[in-house]
Amino acid sequence: MSSRPSNITVIGAGIIGLSCAHDLSEAGYEVTVIADHGPGDTVSALAGALWFPYHAAGTGEVVERSLRRFVELAALGDSADSADAGNVDDFTDDVPPVQMRTGVLHERLDPPDRSWVAPVVKVLGEEAVRPVDGGVRATLPMIMTSRYLAWLMDSCRMNGVAFQWRTVTSLDELTGTTDAVVIAGGLRGGDLLGGDDAVTPVRGQLMLFVNSDENPLTDWVVDSDDPSQLTYVFPREDEIVVGGTSEPGSWDEAPDQETAEAILARAEALVPELKELPILGHGAGLRPSRETVRLERVEGYGLPVIAAYGHGGAGVTLSWGTAERVVELVGEL
Ligand SMILES: Cc1cc2nc3c(=O)[nH]c(=O)nc-3n(C[C@H](O)[C@H](O)[C@H](O)COP(=O)(O)OP(=O)(O)OC[C@H]3O[C@@H](n4cnc5c(N)ncnc54)[C@H](O)[C@@H]3O)c2cc1C
Repeated sequence: MSSRPSNITVIGAGIIGLSCAHDLSEAGYEVTVIADHGPGDTVSALAGALWFPYHAAGTGEVVERSLRRFVELAALGDSADSADAGNVDDFTDDVPPVQMRTGVLHERLDPPDRSWVAPVVKVLGEEAVRPVDGGVRATLPMIMTSRYLAWLMDSCRMNGVAFQWRTVTSLDELTGTTDAVVIAGGLRGGDLLGGDDAVTPVRGQLMLFVNSDENPLTDWVVDSDDPSQLTYVFPREDEIVVGGTSEPGSWDEAPDQETAEAILARAEALVPELKELPILGHGAGLRPSRETVRLERVEGYGLPVIAAYGHGGAGVTLSWGTAERVVELVGEL
């Protein structure tokens, strides 16, 4: 019998677990995803999501690989037969909900952190990034997360990925059922490895607005250096995601009114058009933060284990690069 693994279990059905399952299945492995929360019920579904390596230290190659994949996905949407790319009805099951969108990143630090510019220039060229008064204007992938996760899950299913909806309490229960395990458990990623105290929550709160039919907002705005709090406005096709906060150590997943009012005041100062638009709802979630993403083979268990968690505020941004690295790590087993 060959010792090469053929059957892989991925724990987690957020953006990281599904991206890994997708690429592993594309690479020819038989993949089973086990998760106790479906994609729509994870922090991944809450993400804005702009491709931007927010506080993503030590993830250089992963950043660039992910960007390339999202740019390719956005091009699929562009080449689809769509008369009006801004319309929600233009996305079909075959067209990933990813679009290249232009916006401005405000800068307040001296010198500003432009570490994210190099991979963008490498993948998209000089014209994708232009310094403007007070910041940088850039064209980056916007991922319509909740619908994107549904698209990703469909893609996994079409590749034959199986899903089990339950909690894994110990890796021992998987011994004999699979050749290797990928742990993509987000904030709980370290629990199955004897506890990884390095993974901690960074709470984010946001609001959703209805985008205007007649005159829809399309450009994004980020002010991540605002000393009072991180602020961003991400127009999707039919709604606008407005945030946010970055609250290390808070486990509170319920949105609160006072924070919402503060977000609103900061966002309206950046984008006055928001004053005219109806609010659809509020949300809050916990970013699975770690000093560096854990993306490595872990020794000491009864079966090969690969850790892929701790993506903080950049899990969507890093998802494809993570999946590609996981396929490499599985290939090395
Ligand atoms: C307000 C907000 C805005 C954000 N905006 C952006 C953005 O614009 N761009 C960006 O790149 N990122 C953004 N992020 C960050 C992004 O959401 C996260 O980095 C990402 O979702 C983490 O994905 P994940 O798959 O690792 O974890 P999760 O989405 O939390 O998924 C974890 C999965 O693991 C499963 N699981 C865990 N343990 C077990 C177990 N023992 N047994 C069974 N199942 C288990 C869960 O059920 C779940 O399915 C944002 C986050 C927040 C809160």
